[in-house]
Amino acid sequence: MPHYETESLVLKSYNLAEADRIVVFFTREQGMVRGVAKGAKRLKSRFGSTLELFSTVNLSYFQKEERELVSIQTVELTKSCFAEASSPEFLNTFSYIADLLMAFVPPHDPHEILYRMTKACLAAASENPEDLDSIRLYFELWLLRLGGYLPDWSACEICKRTFTTNEATRIQSSFHLRCKKCGKTNSGDVIDPGHREIFHNAQKLSPVEFIKIVDGKPVQVTEVSKTLKRIISHVIGREVKNENIFAASV
Ligand SMILES: [Zn+2]
Repeated sequence: MPHYETESLVLKSYNLAEADRIVVFFTREQGMVRGVAKGAKRLKSRFGSTLELFSTVNLSYFQKEERELVSIQTVELTKSCFAEASSPEFLNTFSYIADLLMAFVPPHDPHEILYRMTKACLAAASENPEDLDSIRLYFELWLLRLGGYLPDWSACEICKRTFTTNEATRIQSSFHLRCKKCGKTNSGDVIDPGHREIFHNAQKLSPVEFIKIVDGKPVQVTEVSKTLKRIISHVIGREVKNENIFAASV
């Protein structure tokens, strides 16, 4: 029976039998892993508080062939999010991020870049708890980009001309943009240069740099994030839930 050891993020856990829990890990080396933590519900469990949401842990487990649920051996805490998770806004944002990861990443399919990006968002959120909306947008955009679903917003879908800095564009049902000349019917929401700038900055900056550059633009961040949610809903075939219910109305 193969044995694995890998750094992981705890995404979710739920009760199984009397004393056991099922835990979902996003692992650095093995992608999404679901396992049984025997006795985790007991008061004096050997897992202690290691299975809290978004803890970073070193996980070791056995995997029986053709069984999706692995048998968790040890979970060693390297970084807890206990303090951050006392904030409902943080918990809401990262529950949402966990849901998206579970919808996008197939079991036992390694995706180290996505893992590192998620960890970078988590670290940025710990340091900048007031910027969760920007981090949410950053995560949404990179989730789509790494999955190959992010449209190119630098040029018109039809005439392929690169947009000028001040050009207003309209988004199509394909989520690509058209210039004024090609979008004859004026259908589709306006994507203005400010939206496109946020979209491009998120692709070239780290989460912390991105937070700084969009500081003071909460309306545009919300608008771009809404569009990204529409694309994500389209990709996963269902409505994206867990929007930031704590966000100030803008
Ligand atoms: Zn055009």
